[in-house]
Amino acid sequence: MKLAARRCLVHPDREAAARCPSCHQYYCRECVVEHDTRFLCAACLQKSIEAGTSRRSMDFDWLSPLRLLLGFAAAYLSLYVIERILLLIPVNLYNGTWF
Ligand SMILES: [Zn+2]
Ligand SMILES: [Zn+2]
Repeated sequence: MKLAARRCLVHPDREAAARCPSCHQYYCRECVVEHDTRFLCAACLQKSIEAGTSRRSMDFDWLSPLRLLLGFAAAYLSLYVIERILLLIPVNLYNGTWF
């Protein structure tokens, strides 16, 4: 009853068929698109698609420094191990049979 009294935001001459749950504006059947069992207006559908893709790229951007950090950690650890070995060698030579 209330919905029928409303008019489409894009087409003022048409009665609203659905209310966009995202922007809470009323639209006719032609202006809304079914998306994930909800009816979204074209603008909000576009926004939700863009948000979905940006979230995916954000996950990628977040993982890349993590992998880089892991790479640095691995490199640092191997350098540390090499350094320890190099430090141990002169001690062994000094206490060993060389002198
Ligand atoms: Zn909307
Ligand atoms: Zn419309």
